[in-house]
Amino acid sequence: MRRKLAAGNWKMNGTLAELSELGALQGAAGGNAEVLICPPVTLVASAAANAGAIAIGGQDCHSAASGAHTGDVSAPMLRDAGATYVILGHSERRADHGESDALVAYKTQAAWAAGLTAIVCVGETLDERESGKTLDVVGRQLAASLPDDVTGANTVIAYEPVWAIGTGKVPTTNQIADVHGFMRSALIQRFGTDLADTIRLLYGGSVKASNATEIFAVADVDGALVGGASLKATDFAPIVDALNN
Ligand code: PEP
Repeated sequence: MRRKLAAGNWKMNGTLAELSELGALQGAAGGNAEVLICPPVTLVASAAANAGAIAIGGQDCHSAASGAHTGDVSAPMLRDAGATYVILGHSERRADHGESDALVAYKTQAAWAAGLTAIVCVGETLDERESGKTLDVVGRQLAASLPDDVTGANTVIAYEPVWAIGTGKVPTTNQIADVHGFMRSALIQRFGTDLADTIRLLYGGSVKASNATEIFAVADVDGALVGGASLKATDFAPIVDALNN
């Protein structure tokens, strides 16, 4: 049985004052679904100290544990600050920082070594979807971004079509079902049914309270990775509630 997960990605938003949102979210957290907030790295330690029933994660980590990498943050540092998850290979990092599948795989191993659960993101651009390459792209990203020692405890996969992130555009439920079904099959083929069935698959891209129930009803959707609608507890709590129902 896979525990549902509502994961919020605050991206480059939030100061100490906004951590009050965690308090306002406590009522929705603590149900059947796990609730995770990934604030900017400046807030991880303070967030973790006031997290209550909410798990705290980072938004990226370096593939090395320490060293001469100015401006970067390592997985052990995130763990030390109280994080238990880290988002890796988000399309904004792939686009803004040229992150390759191979680098995402190295980062995933670094996350595991530090005891973090990696949320590995995959997803096609609009061009790729319109030219019929969605499953090729997702299949390639999945194969190359995931190291061999995946388990349901150390890894979550987030399918995030790039064209749906922050745009208000959402794939149809059939399109989500096709990709999630494809990902589950690819995981079964690589890791076997027993292991593949333990890996949670999140959908991400313009999830809101108004579309969450419909998306969560899709087979093989085990929760959501939410950007904009995770910043305010009043927006995120109904999404968590939809997952709990
Ligand atoms: C995201 O940043 O992962 C995301 C899905 O953003 P949004 O919910 O704003 O589309």
